[in-house]
Amino acid sequence: MARLDVGSQVIIQREHFGELLEALQKKSYKTIGPTLREKAIVYEEIESVNQLPVGWTEKQEKGKYRLVERSDGALFGYNVGPQSWKSYLSPPEVKLWSARKTENGFEVEEKSDEMPQYAFIGVRPCDLSAINILDRVFLDDEYQDNVYGERRKGLFIVAVNCTEAGNTCFCSSMGTGPRSREGYDLAITEIIDGVDHFFVTDVGTENGAAVLEEVTWEKAGDSAVEAAEERINEAADSMGRDLDTDRLRDLLFNNFEHPQWHDVAERCLSCANCTMVCPTCFCHTVEEVTDLEGDHAERWRIWDSCFTLGYSYIHGGSVRKSTLSRYRQWMTHKLASWHDQFGTSGCVGCGRCITWCPVGIDITEETAAIRKSGKVPEEKVDQPQP
Ligand code: SF4
Ligand code: SF4
Repeated sequence: MARLDVGSQVIIQREHFGELLEALQKKSYKTIGPTLREKAIVYEEIESVNQLPVGWTEKQEKGKYRLVERSDGALFGYNVGPQSWKSYLSPPEVKLWSARKTENGFEVEEKSDEMPQYAFIGVRPCDLSAINILDRVFLDDEYQDNVYGERRKGLFIVAVNCTEAGNTCFCSSMGTGPRSREGYDLAITEIIDGVDHFFVTDVGTENGAAVLEEVTWEKAGDSAVEAAEERINEAADSMGRDLDTDRLRDLLFNNFEHPQWHDVAERCLSCANCTMVCPTCFCHTVEEVTDLEGDHAERWRIWDSCFTLGYSYIHGGSVRKSTLSRYRQWMTHKLASWHDQFGTSGCVGCGRCITWCPVGIDITEETAAIRKSGKVPEEKVDQPQP
């Protein structure tokens, strides 16, 4: 097929969608996409379209996630599962280095793992924003994070605009969805209308255009583009939740002693689920292990969470001893101090922390409760010191 310009819009018919995966694999990408495992939609390596959760959707509520069959054969008829793409870009466990005992001491072993070149298939707009935020955190400062950087380099992103909103989603409030705005190579909108089933496809980069040279497409007519727009707008209008972000940073900093923090602390289990599923939470710790003979040592980087007592341990004890202080730290970091640190909110409104909290704590409700009785200060306030 002819080379398209960046910014073009084309249609890929359902029967040709598999060619997109084949074209990426031909270019040596490892294609990672949604698939079904253990009654959830998770991201794994997929080799064909048949491994997508074809004809499945999910119902999400506070503390609840269920798969439900749908009758239309949609390839992307669901929102987000428990995993996010950070599992691939900053994996839960990474060996940083290993060393072997020698006659003269220790010798650090060469790293042998070759980094795969990933193509992510089906990145939701909220998750695309989360990747942009992780880029800011890991790569945009004086010191860059190699673990993230070497996996992020060469990443190909096929984003999927949302045509249905999940019950715990609030991306419209956070300005991160339901349309993908930037950072994708290709962005698709799935349209099913009677027997018609196709994908309106936006070309975001030269790489995206190069991959489409290997895929059968046709020019997108006005009616197809309008149908895609309409469905994305419907998703925007049917968000399960909303979050008022007006002066939210100052509201939270000004209400550091609000009674709502005590209320939520009585429900919170400090289990850390919310941080594990969150696509932007990036905290980790470093652990060292040796074999029993002391001949071989390894240093691992593993995910950690501000909800654990040990995370704030410094000389002599933990800074955040209570559940109240840990929940408050998490929520005010996401919605307030992240702005000071990285110039953006740390929340993209994906709703995972609401769905996967075992006791159904909802960040939008906790925020609304503080706004209801808390005072928004006249002036910008500094972050309080606990
Ligand atoms: S805080 Fe919750 S809603 Fe916001 S990005 Fe993280 S998991 Fe998603
Ligand atoms: S808010 Fe919910 S998910 Fe997060 S630590 Fe507390 S109980 Fe666990």
